[in-house]
Amino acid sequence: MGVPTLGCDCEVCTSTDPHDKRLRPSVLLRMQQSGHERVVVIDTGPDFREQALRSGLTRVDAVFYTHSHADHILGLDDLRPLSFTVAREGGVILLYASQETADMLRRIYDYTFSPEATYPNRARVRIEPLEERTVVHDVEFVRVPLLHGEMDVSGFRFGNVAYLTDVSAIPESSFVLLEGIDCLIISALRHKPHPSHATLDQAVEWARRIGARQTWFTHIAHDLGHAATNRALPAGMALAYDGLSFAVNLGCVRR
Ligand SMILES: [Zn+2]
Ligand SMILES: [Zn+2]
Ligand SMILES: [Zn+2]
Repeated sequence: MGVPTLGCDCEVCTSTDPHDKRLRPSVLLRMQQSGHERVVVIDTGPDFREQALRSGLTRVDAVFYTHSHADHILGLDDLRPLSFTVAREGGVILLYASQETADMLRRIYDYTFSPEATYPNRARVRIEPLEERTVVHDVEFVRVPLLHGEMDVSGFRFGNVAYLTDVSAIPESSFVLLEGIDCLIISALRHKPHPSHATLDQAVEWARRIGARQTWFTHIAHDLGHAATNRALPAGMALAYDGLSFAVNLGCVRR
């Protein structure tokens, strides 16, 4: 819902700590390749435009979608101006989505994706099927299947990092895909149980098992204050925050 949550005056929603101001979750991956910046985004939520402005984003090459919930897809239309830049180079922004997510995108953004769409300024984007492994500009993205309540959703591993959001259960086969990562970003909504999200304690337990050097918790509700929650977390684990950035090793695929 973002923090402050609309209509709420709790301690976290009224906190003056900038770490307690939370837009909807997303990941921006910037890579320098032969002097060119390449940009991959995971999820374009309703705050995508604001996040793109804050990050000084001037291009996007590809987007990976975790699932079709509003907080992960409703910024898609704001890819339009960036897609015109890519179109001038003769390309399109590639949107990697599962069948279920692709169906939802086509339904909501009918004016963009319908073969009959006539709107001339529609986003220059193309939906691509989400495979087990996808290579974008020499970087391999491995789909990590997860459960979000009853829903199948996708986490992603790229190089030494994994991003797992909106998760309530991790299949055993997905733990295998996470072996050896250095950095884990995983959702942890709150302490109170939720039908389709893990509690912070559950996420800490998974993080211990996965054993990354550093774990960042994301997709945090207003129940968790930044400073107080961090003080109680084990070493090597912390709440992520808006604007957090760090270098990662992407282990580029050789051509
Ligand atoms: Zn609140
Ligand atoms: Zn969701
Ligand atoms: Zn969500």
